[in-house]
Amino acid sequence: MDHFELRDGVLHAEDIPLPRIAEEIGTPVYVYSRATLERHAQVFADALKDIPRKHIAFAIKCNPNLGVLRVLARQGYGADVVSGGELERALASGMAPQDIVFSGVGKTRAELAQGLDRGIGQFNIEHEPEGVALAEIALAKEMTAPAVLRVNPDVDAGTHAKISTGKAENKFGVGIDAAPDIFGRLAALPGLQMRGVALHIGSQLTSLDPLEAAFERVGRLVADLRAAGHSITHVDLGGGLGVPYRPEDNPPSPADYGAMVARVTKDWDVTLMFEPGRVIAGNTGVLLTEVLWVKPGATNPFVIVDAAMNDLARPALYDAYHDFVAVKPTGEQMTASIVGPVCETGDTFARDRVIDTVESGDLAVFRTAGAYGATMASTYNSRSLVPEVLVDGDRYIKVADRIAASTIMAAERVPDWID
Ligand SMILES: *Cc1c(COP(=O)(O)O)cnc(C)c1O
Repeated sequence: MDHFELRDGVLHAEDIPLPRIAEEIGTPVYVYSRATLERHAQVFADALKDIPRKHIAFAIKCNPNLGVLRVLARQGYGADVVSGGELERALASGMAPQDIVFSGVGKTRAELAQGLDRGIGQFNIEHEPEGVALAEIALAKEMTAPAVLRVNPDVDAGTHAKISTGKAENKFGVGIDAAPDIFGRLAALPGLQMRGVALHIGSQLTSLDPLEAAFERVGRLVADLRAAGHSITHVDLGGGLGVPYRPEDNPPSPADYGAMVARVTKDWDVTLMFEPGRVIAGNTGVLLTEVLWVKPGATNPFVIVDAAMNDLARPALYDAYHDFVAVKPTGEQMTASIVGPVCETGDTFARDRVIDTVESGDLAVFRTAGAYGATMASTYNSRSLVPEVLVDGDRYIKVADRIAASTIMAAERVPDWID
C-alpha cells in the first residue's frame, strides 16, 4: 500500500498534486511519501513481533537520503552500511553508533578504523584476512571489535543474477563449510569479539523458500559453532525481501517472512539482526518525469521522457520493470517504448508496453522508485544529478538539490601545461 493516488483525476503524493512539484522543483525529480515510508517501517517491525530479541538495520545503500534516514531513525531503525560514506550518513541522520552494522565486501583499513573510532555496533566480516586486519587495528587502539562472520550458504535465491549474492560462485562471505575453522581462528584473536554469523543471499526475492533453506543451514552452523565451544549471541539474517513492481506481482509479505523466521529460529536463542532495504523504501517513491516528445518508431512510437538511465539505472542494469503511469490519465491507452535522452540504446525504460496515452508536455511517473533509484544516479551525458523531495501530508520539502552539470564542471580543471 502506498500514498500515491489519483484525486480528481490527478496523481497526488499524499495531499500534494504532483504537477505542483513539477512546476516548483522541475523534472525529473524523485518524490517520496513520508506516510508510506513510516507505514512500511511499521509493518516490517510488526511482522517480527514474535521474535524476542532483534535489531533492524535499514540497508541504506537502497536510499541513503538524509531526510529518509531521519524518518527511519525516528522509527527506531538502525543502519546497515557498506562504506565509510554511508557510515557518516547514518550518524548524520541521528542514528546511534551502536545501531550501525558495517557490511561490505571490500572495506578498507581506513574504513575499519573509522568504524572503530565511531563506536559502531557490529562489523560483518567478509573473509579471514579482513578479520585479522580488524583485530590488529582494534588492538592498536586498545579496543575490541564486535563482529560476526558472513557466510555464503550456497543457495540459489532465484533472483536476477546481478543481485544474487548467496551462491558459492558469488564474491560474498566465506563458504559455509569453511566457516567453522575460520571462525575458530578469528575467535582466538585478541581485539575481536566474534559473536555470531551473518548471511544475505540476494535482493528482490519473490519466494521465501531459498531464505528458509539458507536459514536452516545457518542454524546448523550455529549448533556446530556452539559444540566447538563458541558463544554465539547474534545472527544477522540480511535483507532481500522483494516488492511488487508490476500490479500483478505478489511477493511474500513481511508477515509471512516474520512467521517463517520465527518458526525456523525459535530454538536459536540469539539476537536476530535484520537488514531490510527495498521492502522498506521501494514503494515509498516515484520518479516524476515530463514527456518531451512522442516520436514514431518502426513498430510503435517512442515516448521520450526527460528522465534517463542516469536518473534511474535499474531498467538498464537489470532489465527491471517500473510501472509508468500518467499524472493526469485520460483513460486511453497506447502501445509505446519509453526511452530517455541519453545516447545509449540501453536508456530504455520499457519496450512495446501498453501505457496510459501521453503527449509532449504531459507528466508521468515511474513507480516503485524509492529503492535503488536516486542512490544510483550519475551525471552521465553531463546531465544534472536528480533532486529528491519528501512529502508529508500537505507539505513537502526538497531533501536533495538538483546538482547542475555546471557545478560538477566547476570541480574539474584543465592542466595549465596543456596549451
Ligand atoms: C543490499 C543489502 C541488503 C539489502 O537488500 P534488500 O534486497 O534491499 O533488502 C542487506 N544486507 C546486505 C549485506 C546488502 O548488501
